[in-house]
Amino acid sequence: MPALTRAEAVERRRLLNVRSSTVELDLTQGDEVFGSVTVIRFACTAPGASSFVDVKPRTLLRAVLNGQQLDPSALDDGRLPLDGLAAENELLVEAEMAYSRTGEGMHRFVDPADGEAYVYSQAFLDDGPRFFAGFDQPDLKAAYQVSVTAPEEWTVVGNSLAVRQEGGRWVFAPTPAISSYLVAVVAGPLHSVVSEHDGIPLGLHCRRSLADHLETDAEEILEITRRSFDHYHRVFDQRFPFDSYDQCFVPEFNAGAMENPGCVTFRDEFVFRSAVTSTQREERAMVVAHEMAHMWFGDLVTMRWWDDLWLNESFAEYLAYEVVSASTRFTGAWTGYAAGRKSWGCEADQRPSTHPVAPEAVEDTAQALQNFDGISYSKGASALRQLVAWLGEEAFYKGVNAHFAKHAYGNAALADLLEALGAASGRDVDSWAERWLRTSGMDTLRVDEGRLLQTSADGELRPHLITAAAYERSPVGQLVLRGRRSYDLAAEPEHPFEQPAPGEPDLLLLNDTDLGFVKIRFDERSWQTVRESLGAIPEELARAVLWNAARDLVRDGELSPVEYLELVAAQLPGEESVHLVQSVLGFARHTVVDEYLTPDQRPAGLALLAEVGRDLIRRTEGGPDESGLRLVAVRALTSASSTPAELAVLQSWREEGGVPGGPQLDPELSWALLLRLCVLGAAGEDEIAAELARDPSATGQEGAARCRAALPDPAAKEAAWTALFESDLSNYLVAATAQGFWQADQAELLRDRPQRYFAAVVAAAERRGPALGRVLGHHGFPAYAATEATVAAAEECLARTDLTAALRRALADRLDDLRRAVAARAAAGTAA
Ligand SMILES: [Zn+2]
Repeated sequence: MPALTRAEAVERRRLLNVRSSTVELDLTQGDEVFGSVTVIRFACTAPGASSFVDVKPRTLLRAVLNGQQLDPSALDDGRLPLDGLAAENELLVEAEMAYSRTGEGMHRFVDPADGEAYVYSQAFLDDGPRFFAGFDQPDLKAAYQVSVTAPEEWTVVGNSLAVRQEGGRWVFAPTPAISSYLVAVVAGPLHSVVSEHDGIPLGLHCRRSLADHLETDAEEILEITRRSFDHYHRVFDQRFPFDSYDQCFVPEFNAGAMENPGCVTFRDEFVFRSAVTSTQREERAMVVAHEMAHMWFGDLVTMRWWDDLWLNESFAEYLAYEVVSASTRFTGAWTGYAAGRKSWGCEADQRPSTHPVAPEAVEDTAQALQNFDGISYSKGASALRQLVAWLGEEAFYKGVNAHFAKHAYGNAALADLLEALGAASGRDVDSWAERWLRTSGMDTLRVDEGRLLQTSADGELRPHLITAAAYERSPVGQLVLRGRRSYDLAAEPEHPFEQPAPGEPDLLLLNDTDLGFVKIRFDERSWQTVRESLGAIPEELARAVLWNAARDLVRDGELSPVEYLELVAAQLPGEESVHLVQSVLGFARHTVVDEYLTPDQRPAGLALLAEVGRDLIRRTEGGPDESGLRLVAVRALTSASSTPAELAVLQSWREEGGVPGGPQLDPELSWALLLRLCVLGAAGEDEIAAELARDPSATGQEGAARCRAALPDPAAKEAAWTALFESDLSNYLVAATAQGFWQADQAELLRDRPQRYFAAVVAAAERRGPALGRVLGHHGFPAYAATEATVAAAEECLARTDLTAALRRALADRLDDLRRAVAARAAAGTAA
């Protein structure tokens, strides 16, 4: 399919004004296809001109423009030409559409738990034409009137309130003007929980087999929703702009969630089937609040073109953390950001593929799709945090409200928002935006001989509002905060520096409250203090900043992976924060042990992490595990177990129904234990089949696919390889297979596979489209094989001209990680 270019979109917007769009879907035509009839009424400012409508059917049955039949065979690569347009036009397009298995367009899923079928749409970014014909670009908004005919026993949810008629027909109220990528339909024998808040009808929906789990958590999700609505209604002048708010948890969803007005879709892993940590609940709350922010940022006022994607995502991300920490029980959400989501932005901003938060030109939709990354979300949220700190909240919301008032139900660009913020604050917001939104890359701060030095990889510098703290060791080994000070740093390489407290501290910690988006470095005395006493710092957020700094040091080759693990072993077992334990152990296990250590060093690294896990399990003996710290420790010990004695412990947990003292076995823990046993050859097909019989759910199928792909057996590897690159498996089953396939423990068995991967993945990504291209390029990448030979193979692959945009981006990012791993191994080898 050709990607819509910016120039084409500008031209079509100049010509056309869409009045309304009527979409009629028939979901009663079987397992493969469904019917779609669209009628679009639109004006043309230059009568006689030509344009085109986007439609990607299996079969185009009929197209009629102003009473004239069009030739269906004129459809070319998803575009149907429209010639000789009148001042006012009516276009009818009737098509047979195909269901998808990749989470794009109209996805169809059969629940293995009960055989029930479900469908849901994902129109974003340019997949709307896979279920209705339209002028598919953000700035041709229309009022949509959607009707759906579905099997009698189904429930159908859409963007607005519906009337259910005879014969399974659902007629939805016309929407306000919305963009085509936001039209949504979710249908099936759904389980629903309905409520109401502040005059807004609320609904939660999931597939029937998850009903009990949704019921258990419904009140928590609704409470987050109500509190978030109240918060948004406090800070925004404009009320929620749609007629109802349904949150649908759908299977095999590619993203976390999608902000369709009044019909948000979430990946249904957010309906928890197993024990979870408080951080997982916090993350779900954050996603709920994020999608709600989009009802204003994105849905009410929409970017004109995809180069202003950040106007959607950065705002939603920033507001979500702000709302969740201020208005829900998850008051530590910004610490969660520091420990988790932030590194996504930091790492993205140090890659060759980085780009400005607000890029000047995104040429087409294929390129736009690649910008749904750590920059647009995570870095953008940090940049906005800086902006709000600089403007003050009052001026910020005043500007935002003026922006909404001016562009409600329309489109806007970066310049429009800057103008509103400038007018509200009287500040030079344009200059700030030039530095923060139009550049890429991170600054590094360090203090040296009384001066604060600011550097970056490419010499571009940004202004920063940060704090710094001075700590002193107490006689009993605690670190005591002696002073904190704020710094307003211009974009300059050098600043005079005044310590936060008189005298030389034992630890000077720059950016201790994590307000800044910067890397920090330490003086010798401070680093010594970190190594000896990181865990003794009272503030959780400051510890998060320190763990992130250590992560940067090892990623940048300034700290050996072995020393990083020693820091983990010394400072983590006493850690109380589930945020920190989870993120540090995740990085240590998957990046440091699997990728940065040499094969010779790896067993010792695993042993060290297993010991940290056992320490944490001992320390959480007996008490309630409200935060899930013990669960994190159990997960960590499971994935680090490798000796026969350790595997025997995992076996005993399986046989005895859980870990003595908790947690009990549940599906997730059972599959995790079995996976580790399969990887090391201590369990096989018999155990997998038995586990699947106990848990025949969709996640059970994924667990089985993961375990089978992980077996250290040539035939199992060959079958998994075929499933990855030659099958038509769904997006989730491909991801699970990819996660199981590559195991650092199986380097010998997988010997020639990393080289073969690159040829196989190019063809598969081409055949299966962007979503699977990302899965295969990301989860499918042999990250553990950090050798010069893999680097060379990846480089050779990227030199090809026939890669899809999605695969190219995924491989480029994985290659960047791989180069860091190769450098770390070289350094680790010489250090050892
Ligand atoms: Zn979003």
